[in-house]
Amino acid sequence: MEKKSIVTIDGPAGAGKSTISKILAQNLDYIYLDTGALYRALAYKALKKKISLEDIPALTDLCSSTAVVLKKIDGRMKVYVDGEDVEEKIRTEEVSMAASKISTFAVVREKLLNLQREAGAHGGIIAEGRDMGSVVFPQADYKFYLDAQLEERIRRRYKEFLGKGVLVEYQSVQKDMLARDKQDKQRKLAPLKVPEGAVIIDSDNLSVGGVVEKIISYISVK
Ligand code: C5P
Repeated sequence: MEKKSIVTIDGPAGAGKSTISKILAQNLDYIYLDTGALYRALAYKALKKKISLEDIPALTDLCSSTAVVLKKIDGRMKVYVDGEDVEEKIRTEEVSMAASKISTFAVVREKLLNLQREAGAHGGIIAEGRDMGSVVFPQADYKFYLDAQLEERIRRRYKEFLGKGVLVEYQSVQKDMLARDKQDKQRKLAPLKVPEGAVIIDSDNLSVGGVVEKIISYISVK
């Protein structure tokens, strides 16, 4: 396999994209780009400033006055908002829902588009998100769509919260995931869908290692 490929991984929340992408990036010695973190970062600032998530003029101001920067650290692109490391703070359910809401707006997507393309400009990247293979990197060398049954995705996300010591109701994770699935798939701009040319991988009956192996097998045979 050439060293400088762009590999995209799209799919719904809880499908295992982050876990798989991190391992793939390590195995292939590529950079891991978590694009959801960019939307979360802007959503975090909107919430902090108590901006209405429906208020497009206010979101437009927020976009022009906020510095979202990606820094390459330990094999991945880390997000900074106005110089602040927001890594931990953006992993809440509130930020997930807010990110899904503001990511429906063109001004938000446009602000983050170049940042993502620049991160992938030299290849050697595993880019994970909702529109990686369809909009951001349509020319990607390898495209994957990672999916799993709704119940399995809810269970994984719930376990993830418990693992971090976050107290959360199963029903609330379920409700948010349903709402986010709907919003991400039905929005007009860059909706979540299987990108043209993507290999669909159903992770329901596969271990993490099994999914990684399957993806690597596609990459090496192409
Ligand atoms: O992947 P993650 O759950 O961190 O993404 C948070 C939200 O950001 C998603 O629900 C989606 O609405 C938005 N997003 C997006 N496009 C991407 C990545 C994330 O619209 N490429």
